[in-house]
Amino acid sequence: MAGTVTNWAGNITFAAKELHRPGSLDALRSLVTHSARVRVLGSGHSFNEIAEPGPEGVLLSLDALPAEVDVDTAARTVRVGGGVRYAELARRVHAHGLALPNMASLPHISVAGSVATGTHGSGVRNGSLAAAVREVEIVTADGSTVAVGREEERFGGAVTSLGALGVVTALTLDLEPAFEVEQHLFTDLPLEGLDFETVAGAAYSVSLFTDWRTPGFRQVWLKRRTDQPLADFPWAAPATEALHPVPGMPAVNCTEQFGVPGPWHERLPHFRAEFTPSSGNELQSEYLLPRERAVDILYAIDGIRETVAPALQTCEVRTVAADEQWLSPAHARDSVAVHFTWIEDTEAVLPVVRELEAALEPFAPRPHWGKVFTVPADAVRERYPRIDDFRSLVRELDPAGTFTNAFLADVLGQ
Ligand SMILES: Cc1cc2nc3c(=O)[nH]c(=O)nc-3n(C[C@H](O)[C@H](O)[C@H](O)COP(=O)(O)OP(=O)(O)OC[C@H]3O[C@@H](n4cnc5c(N)ncnc54)[C@H](O)[C@@H]3O)c2cc1C
Repeated sequence: MAGTVTNWAGNITFAAKELHRPGSLDALRSLVTHSARVRVLGSGHSFNEIAEPGPEGVLLSLDALPAEVDVDTAARTVRVGGGVRYAELARRVHAHGLALPNMASLPHISVAGSVATGTHGSGVRNGSLAAAVREVEIVTADGSTVAVGREEERFGGAVTSLGALGVVTALTLDLEPAFEVEQHLFTDLPLEGLDFETVAGAAYSVSLFTDWRTPGFRQVWLKRRTDQPLADFPWAAPATEALHPVPGMPAVNCTEQFGVPGPWHERLPHFRAEFTPSSGNELQSEYLLPRERAVDILYAIDGIRETVAPALQTCEVRTVAADEQWLSPAHARDSVAVHFTWIEDTEAVLPVVRELEAALEPFAPRPHWGKVFTVPADAVRERYPRIDDFRSLVRELDPAGTFTNAFLADVLGQ
């Protein structure tokens, strides 16, 4: 490949022989039909080899395709191109007085890449970002386009698909009327006596942050929709200064705090769209686990915090409502999502990840598909009751394995 291509964090250097940026759908179809092995690279924000096609394969970036964002105000839907990122989508949708139901912490990630890995925000009633998708259009290995809508049985495998079915060239998403959100931040929430359900349900979207240097949470971020009541939050003290999720980092790149109301897309992410980090000095892991066990899970991590803390920048605890996607880490299970932003040192981080996974094992953790994990593939498979249906769908849409790679072969066991 001419030049080195890495993921956003720089911990993965792609071994693919070529990177192509087709400028039209016809050029994309031609590339796909003339290549034996293809993987799409979205915005490259995953931390593992999920997008790696291998040394004989081709990486396909969709960032030279027209960035389609077609809002249908009457139907309250948007059709978005396969390379578009959330920041651009949100801006265009908001201009029509409409909104997405939720966003992840960072708006710079691509929509297709995010829903492919089960990316989520927070909220006890908010599903993963894939839950907003009503139709997906996929260019398969023979160059044809397959559209799969929510009414079809196979839709369950078509959105959170790990890129295994083909190139997602467009998605249609449900929208709702635009809403405003305020962020209220608190500090020092104790673990002892934590009523997780009440705390996690105290606002539309709730995040707890800790560095595990002490038990409990240094920060609580409540994102309240202004069309919903403001709950009392007596368990922690209101923040007196603007905060960044990583203790000690300046909050200048964070979205507005102190209860200042603003549009949904300028409050639901933690980080501002106009701040675009081109690379990151971090690694990430995340596990989705049964929400009803949240307190036991947090105590299990607290039990090894002396191991976890030295490798950690920050840990974020969120919730994700159960969804229907067969490979969604929140599949059929209301989930607590425990995320770890590690230091940028794979050698130091991996042993900690293994110890963490051992502590979480009794709770059957499902690792985030786009982050660092070492849970063996057979254990991962056992946690997805519809995995065989997904494997059948892969065989149906990609019989020659054009879109497979080592990561998928391991995870799917085929
Ligand atoms: C700073 C940071 C913050 C993050 N915050 C969150 C968060 O709040 N919540 C959360 O859940 N995750 C979060 N993540 C993880 C991130 O959302 C996922 O890794 C997501 O997959 C990133 O999207 P991407 O476009 O960069 O995907 P990539 O890493 O480029 O690709 C991911 C997968 O999607 C496939 N893919 C991408 N585009 C297409 C396409 N058009 N057609 C077919 N397959 C495709 C790729 O082949 C690959 O398998 C964060 C990551 C970073 C770096």
